[in-house]
Amino acid sequence: MANGADMLLGCGSMKERGLFDRDETEFIEKNMDKLHRIGTTAYYAGISGKEKNDPLRMQFIPDKRELDIAEYEKTDPLCEKKFSPHDKIIHRYPDRVLFLASGRCPLYCRHCFRRYLGENGFRDADEGDVESLTRYIGENKQIREVLISGGDPLMLEDDFLEHICRRIRTAGRGIVIRIGTRVPVVYPSRVNAALAQMLSKYRPLYIFTQFNHPREITAQSSAAVDFFVKSGIPVFNQTVLLRGINNTADVLEALFYSLVSISVKPYYLFQGDLASGTSHLRAPLDDGLNLMRSLREKMSALSLPLFAVDLPDGIGKAPLETSSIVKMEDGFYDIKCPDGRIARYPVED
Ligand code: SF4
Repeated sequence: MANGADMLLGCGSMKERGLFDRDETEFIEKNMDKLHRIGTTAYYAGISGKEKNDPLRMQFIPDKRELDIAEYEKTDPLCEKKFSPHDKIIHRYPDRVLFLASGRCPLYCRHCFRRYLGENGFRDADEGDVESLTRYIGENKQIREVLISGGDPLMLEDDFLEHICRRIRTAGRGIVIRIGTRVPVVYPSRVNAALAQMLSKYRPLYIFTQFNHPREITAQSSAAVDFFVKSGIPVFNQTVLLRGINNTADVLEALFYSLVSISVKPYYLFQGDLASGTSHLRAPLDDGLNLMRSLREKMSALSLPLFAVDLPDGIGKAPLETSSIVKMEDGFYDIKCPDGRIARYPVED
């Protein structure tokens, strides 16, 4: 799967390569059991800078502030487990179901909202889980879309990934398949013509990437995207708004224009989830509103994503517009959801 220049690096290999400074090494060794999994690829470490505030490095190097957990932060901030009829299935919206196909990622994002995957040892799905998924789709005729997610589904072997796609195709006619992956961004050598051609057999199928910074768009990641595009697979991007990484108009503008230039449609800009120990990476919600307001003045709808938040307590996604948000005096926003419900989200500095 990997070549010599693009290896998966676990915490031990990262240490051997000197990716942590002395403070970080001490902190990690002392707190390993409290931290979200640690790992990256040689490729991504290679395009990252060495400075602590490098926007790529910050996405995979643990920070001491990960131990500061706000009272409203959770290991499962979207309450996905509440919507889980089976260990590997999440069914929150009537017409969509999510399959946790893989328990592994090529890079463990420090802002990850699915850190609870560690509770079952980051287990990949097996044949029994695929069977349960196809049975579930068969029994729930309202399902129109299956999101293959994880972890990162492109960490699976091609054969098993194809098996999952084939079973979804035979379980329900006309189902749309989406694959959520950071592989093209952080582990581009994993993507090749054979993988793209295999997936193209299961269209309608869409790839959803997570590019968070313009420096992630390189010759290698562009080539990875191109394999999908040339195989007729549309590619969309979901950026997470991250403090100190991409929460300025210049960075987002460069990111969105660059994405469109490689045939990737910016789809969502997500307000950070309330995952445990991520407040230092979460940009204030007001930042996102102001940034989108200024970008909307000069960018076309093609280049602009929708700013949205996945609300706590499993309420679901809500688009964020100034008109639907009221800042309350008790330190929370009241957010009006599309279905009329009012949800709460903290005001942070
Ligand atoms: S790729 Fe997704 S699941 Fe994996 S660590 Fe990043 S955010 Fe979490």
